[in-house]
Amino acid sequence: MVKSKLEFEQNQQQSSSDKHATSSSWTIEDSENLYGIQGWGEPYFSINAAGHVTVSPQGNSRGFSLDLYELVESLKKRNLGLPLLIRFSDILGDRLERLHASMNRAIARYNYPGKYQGVFPIKCNQHRHLVEAIVQFGKPYQFGLEAGSKPELMIALAALEAGYHPTKDNFEPLLICNGYKDREYIETALLARKLGQKPIIVIEQIEELYLAIAVSRQLEIKPILGVRAKLLTKGSGRWGNSTGERAKFGLTIPQIVEVVEQLQAADLLDSLQLLHFHVGSQISSISVVKDAIREASQIYVQLVKMGANMQYLDVGGGLAVDYDGSKTNFHASKNYNMQNYANDIVAQIKDACAQGNVTVPTIVSESGRAIASHQSVLVFDVLGTSDVPTTPPSPVQEEEHLVLRNLWETYHFIDAQNYQETYHDAIQFKEEAISLFNLGYFTLAQRARAEELYWACCRKIVQIIPQQGYVPDDLEDLEKMMASIYYINLSIFQSVPDSWAIDQLFPIMPIHRLEEKPTARGILADLTCDSDGKIDQFIDLRDVKDILELHPLQFVDNQNNGDLSKQKSPAPYYLGMFLVGAYQEIMGNLHNLFGDTNVVHIQMTPKGYQIEYVVKGDTIKEVLGYVQYDPEDLIETMRRRTEVALQERKITLEEAQRLLQNYESSLNSYTYLVAN
Ligand SMILES: *Cc1c(COP(=O)(O)O)cnc(C)c1O
Repeated sequence: MVKSKLEFEQNQQQSSSDKHATSSSWTIEDSENLYGIQGWGEPYFSINAAGHVTVSPQGNSRGFSLDLYELVESLKKRNLGLPLLIRFSDILGDRLERLHASMNRAIARYNYPGKYQGVFPIKCNQHRHLVEAIVQFGKPYQFGLEAGSKPELMIALAALEAGYHPTKDNFEPLLICNGYKDREYIETALLARKLGQKPIIVIEQIEELYLAIAVSRQLEIKPILGVRAKLLTKGSGRWGNSTGERAKFGLTIPQIVEVVEQLQAADLLDSLQLLHFHVGSQISSISVVKDAIREASQIYVQLVKMGANMQYLDVGGGLAVDYDGSKTNFHASKNYNMQNYANDIVAQIKDACAQGNVTVPTIVSESGRAIASHQSVLVFDVLGTSDVPTTPPSPVQEEEHLVLRNLWETYHFIDAQNYQETYHDAIQFKEEAISLFNLGYFTLAQRARAEELYWACCRKIVQIIPQQGYVPDDLEDLEKMMASIYYINLSIFQSVPDSWAIDQLFPIMPIHRLEEKPTARGILADLTCDSDGKIDQFIDLRDVKDILELHPLQFVDNQNNGDLSKQKSPAPYYLGMFLVGAYQEIMGNLHNLFGDTNVVHIQMTPKGYQIEYVVKGDTIKEVLGYVQYDPEDLIETMRRRTEVALQERKITLEEAQRLLQNYESSLNSYTYLVAN
């Protein structure tokens, strides 16, 4: 599958496939280009001289950086096994700082006579340590929170400290209340005003208006209200359905007019202070942002003219993340940067207000993805690989079957002139061999021989193709077919659900051995027994890659006696998946009962870094509890079973003890595998 990206910027670095550095001349820069780390990773991720990925949580121009590989090794020594989700809270701080700097630059540039005041949409990542870090880092900016449901409202109410700069003309963090609301939701939000908080109840359904009017009369608390508009501007890509006349959320223009009329009748028109819209997440194209702001700004101006006490224009989320680093309007990318985004918003709102002769609003945004993605890195190990055979076949003898002799002949004579033709010969002979087997004329050993020779042909051809400058159509899939399967200690369903559900792309690369040429080509298969539990699409500057360049596993030779399983165990090989801090952690599921991974929070200190928090991943006992198994009952059942078997003399006491001990210790262990 090849998707072409529109508006590709020509000034990109060379695509990875254009490079053919030999192993001996392979450099760190080659790895940087191959994995595109500058495109998606700047300014937080880079590669050091040791060939390890480094993290600079405050951006690479200042602050410390740390070696991700060394960090993982030291966490392992603290009994924090892989897979491991590592959060860098300073990255959150840096994202917030960048967002505010961009907005403030735009405000200065266009002489905007108003201010910016953002909120974080909790649904993007609800974990307590993260929300608390955002509130903490957001204090200097009076940064608030957005709740999209009653549970999220409860988080927001507890997390936001009320009015910590009461002196600054009522400038305090906002609590934007979105989502479906019942009476309890509205009552709670209204009562929170008495705590000095600033909840703004956004009317998303017309019924909520009547409920809000009724509740506020009853409690005698004046609400601050907003309306969510259904814009006609269409989002694009995967998450583009949040707008349009048939969108799930928001009010149509006739409904907004109804809101104004009803509020007027209830003598509450001065409560209507905010206009909100949300085009969708990951808006890849700046033109969509522009169109939406243009439409919303005009609605805002009209609301002012109708007498509403408008103060805020909330532009929702959608600020995109460049997952593949291509700077295009491809769904995994974006063709604009944060500053372009800020400029367009500020300029358009200013123009519309000037034209309509109304006071400009405080600009609110609800960026989730752009704030939370970069701070989490998921590190996991490779348990083993399945490769197509790599040893050269032994020559076929005169007395062997004709089909095998033909395959050998084909293999022997493959060269740069005939590789395309011989590829088809090899396929044909292999198919003949399979037919012979199916008809009972070939032994299992003969079939094995035929397959071995066929793969040897493919390997030889795959080695010739890169020297030819172009890949003939019929050979395009060969590299993919020859790819190794890397078995990873992870559940895609738990840790990166969007990779499975909507084919979202995340940057993935080894976090060490980057001074070494990655000579293997692989796809990733996870621990679940589900054939969808795999990753076979990878970021690329031009298209999407079907394979990922990886290093062959190295084997430690433990010359230890009889234990076959330990004779050749693979040396640890760690992969990192980056930009996974938004949406992935909460939507994961317990497919095959693989639970939450271990999580650590790393914070930079003047001397380096410290482990701020550790949240241990689920144990087997915990995930079994989610599906209503009681560990005590399970152990008791197993104990009774062993007693019966003991009485019937089917098991020895020693075996029974060993079984029960394993059973009990498994219940308390991590759901993922521990490398031998
Ligand atoms: C999901 C959502 C957001 C966050 O969108 P991002 O694309 O992550 O910035 C903001 N506002 C609303 C109403 C949302 O539903």
